[in-house]
Amino acid sequence: MPSDLNCGKIKHMEKRIKELVALLNQYRNEYYTLDNPSVSDSEYDKLYHELQELEKQNPEFVLADSPTQAVGDVILEGFEKYQHETPLYSLQDAFSHEELLAFDRRVKGEFPDASYMAELKIDGLSVSLVYVDGKLITGATRGDGSVGENITENIKRIKDIPHQLEEPLTITVRGEAYLPRASFDRINQERRDTGQAEFANPRNAAAGTLRQLDTSVVAKRGLATFLYQEASPTSRLTQDDVLRELTDYGFSVNSRRIVTASMDDIWTFIEEIAAERDSLPYDIDGIVIKVNSLAMQEELGFTVKAPRWAIAYKFPAEEKEAELLSVDWTVGRTGVVTPTANLSPVQLAGTTVSRATLHNVDYIAEKDIRIGDTVVVYKAGDIIPAVLHVVASKRNKQEPMPIPETCPSCQSELIHYEDEVALRCINPLCPAQILERLAHFVSRDAMNIAGLGPSVMEKLFKAGLVQDVADLYKLKEEDFLTLDGIKEKSAEKFYAAIQASKGNSAEKLLFGLGIRHVGAKVSRQLLETFGDIDSLAQADTEAIAAIDGLGGAVAQSLRSYFAKEEAEKLLEEFKTAGLNLAFLGQRAQADAQLSGLTVVLTGKLERLTRNDAKEKLQNLGAKVTGSVSKKTDILVAGSDAGSKLDKAQALGIEIRDEAWLESL
Ligand code: NAD
Repeated sequence: MPSDLNCGKIKHMEKRIKELVALLNQYRNEYYTLDNPSVSDSEYDKLYHELQELEKQNPEFVLADSPTQAVGDVILEGFEKYQHETPLYSLQDAFSHEELLAFDRRVKGEFPDASYMAELKIDGLSVSLVYVDGKLITGATRGDGSVGENITENIKRIKDIPHQLEEPLTITVRGEAYLPRASFDRINQERRDTGQAEFANPRNAAAGTLRQLDTSVVAKRGLATFLYQEASPTSRLTQDDVLRELTDYGFSVNSRRIVTASMDDIWTFIEEIAAERDSLPYDIDGIVIKVNSLAMQEELGFTVKAPRWAIAYKFPAEEKEAELLSVDWTVGRTGVVTPTANLSPVQLAGTTVSRATLHNVDYIAEKDIRIGDTVVVYKAGDIIPAVLHVVASKRNKQEPMPIPETCPSCQSELIHYEDEVALRCINPLCPAQILERLAHFVSRDAMNIAGLGPSVMEKLFKAGLVQDVADLYKLKEEDFLTLDGIKEKSAEKFYAAIQASKGNSAEKLLFGLGIRHVGAKVSRQLLETFGDIDSLAQADTEAIAAIDGLGGAVAQSLRSYFAKEEAEKLLEEFKTAGLNLAFLGQRAQADAQLSGLTVVLTGKLERLTRNDAKEKLQNLGAKVTGSVSKKTDILVAGSDAGSKLDKAQALGIEIRDEAWLESL
C-alpha cells in the first residue's frame, strides 16, 4: 500500500502531467496552427522532456491528447485532407553526446556492423510528393502523420520541385520545404515596411507560406526543398543510395552528409556543422543520424511517433536572458515606427548582443514587455536578435512600457491604424523618413553610391544641402568641404561616386525611389519590359499588371506614384542632371545563351550547390532534366559521376564540367 507521502507525490505528478499537456498543447497550437510561437523551441523541448520523464514513471497517467502520443501538426481548414499511404514520422531527439552514444549502443546491440548516415536537420516542414508515371499529382503536409493537408497547388509553386520526372516513375518522395534566410529577411523587411507582423523565424514563415490559400503568395516567397526519403524504397540498399537516386531524379538533395560507423566521426561532423551553422544560407536545428542500411531500418521499426533507427541531435538553443534597459523608437522610410530594445550585453550564437528588435507596438502589448524586465533574447540564423518573451518570475513591479504618442523625429502625432500592428508617422516631411529614403537611394542595390553612409548623409541634410534625392546631383565637390570632418580626399571620392551613379542602368534608379511593392527584382522586370522610366511612368495599369509574376498591387502603386506632380518634377530634375533613365542590361532573352537546350546535371559539384547550378542553367534559358536521353544536349558532370556519364558518352552528348558552368 502506498504511504501518504507517496500518495501526495503521485497526485502532484498527475497534476503536473495535466498542466504540462495543457501548456504544450497550447504551444503546439500557436506553433503549428497559428505559425506564431510564443516560446522558443528549447523552452518547448524542456517542458516536453519533463512530460516524457513523468509519463515514463507513471504510465497510467498518460493522457490521450498528450503530445508524446501523436505527431505534431494540425490540419487547417480550407485545405482538403490527404491520407498518406505510408505514415510520416517525427524524430526522437538527443541533446548531448551521451544520448547519441546510448542510441549507438542500442543500435549496435542488435546490429554490431551498422553504419550511419548523418544529414543536416533542415528547419522547415516536411512535405510528401506523389508522382504517378513521372507526373507530380499530389503534394501534402505531414499533418498528424497519417492525414495531412493537400497543398498540391502551393507545392507546384516551389521552383526546385520537378512537375514532371524524366522517367515515368510512380513514387512518393519526402523531404523538407524551407525558406532560405535571404528570402526570410526580404519578406520580413517587406512586412516591416508595410506595417505587417513579422514572422518569428524561417520555419514558421515556411509553414505559413505553404498553408496559404493564395498560391500567388507562395510563388513570390521563394521556398526551396531538400528531399531525403522515398516512401517505399525497394531495390535500394542504403539511405546513401536513396539520396543519390533522388539526386538523379532531379530533386534537390543536401550534399552536406557523411556515412560512417563511428560515433566519433559523427560528433566531429556535428561540431563542424555547428561552427558553420550561422553561415549556411538556410536554418538548421540539428543533425539527423540514420541507420544507413534499409534492411536494418526495417528490422528496427518505429515507436508510435518516431523511427527507432534514427535520432535528431538538436543544437543548443540560440537564446539567452538579458535585462531590458531601455527602448529606442526609430522611424523607417515609410514612416513605420519600430521599437528596439537596449539590453545588458549577452553572448548569443557567437556574437555579443546588446540590441534586439521588439517588432512593433502590438507585440510589446501582447507580450506585456516592460523596461527593467528580464527577457529572453533569441537569434535565428543571421537575423537580427529579437526579444521573445518576458521571464515573468523575474519581474519586480515594473511599470507598463511607455508608448510614444509623437514621432521621435518630427514630433507630429503618431497614428496606429486599426489593421496595422505598427505605429506610423504620416508626415511626409519628417526628417527621419527623408534620411531613411536618402540612405535607401544610395544603397548598394539602388544607386550604389559608395561612401555616402548615414553620418555623411545626415550632415548634408542638416546643412540644408540635400533635402531630397535630386539634390545629391546638384552637389559640388567643394560643398562636402563645408561639412565637419570631411577632407579633400573624401570630398573628391563622394563627388566622383555620385557622378558615376548617373550612368547606372535605370532599374537601380527605379528601385532607389522606394516605391511601395517595387523591389530590386521587380524594378528590373519592369524596365526589361518598358525599356525606360518615362515609358513606365506612362504605362497603364493593365500593361504593368500583365507582366508575368507582377500583380495589381505593383501596378496600382506605380500608378499612384507617377500620378503625383512631385514625381514628374523629380524625373525632370534627374534628366537635367544627366541621369540615365534607360535600361542598359541585356534583355533576358538575348542573354539566354542556352536557350532551348536540354541540360542534365550529374555527380558532385564542388563549388556550386545543385540548386544554384540548376537555377543558373535555367536563367540562361536551358531546360534542366533529371536523366540522360537522346533529347539531352549537354551533360554537366561533377566528380563521381556514374551511369549518366556513361550513357551520355555512349550517346555522343556534349559533356561539360563545373568550371564551364561557372564561366557562363
Ligand atoms: P522535429 O522537428 O524535432 O523532427 C522531425 C522532423 O524533422 C521531421 O518531420 C522532418 O520534417 C524534419 N527533418 C529535417 N531534416 C530532416 C532530415 N534530414 N531527415 C529527416 N527528417 C528531417 O519534430 P516535430 O515533431 O516535427 O516537431 C517537434 C519540434 O517542434 C519540437 O522539438 C520543437 O523544437 C518544435 N516545436 C516548438 C513549439 C514552440 O512553441 N516553440 C511548439 C511545438 C513544436
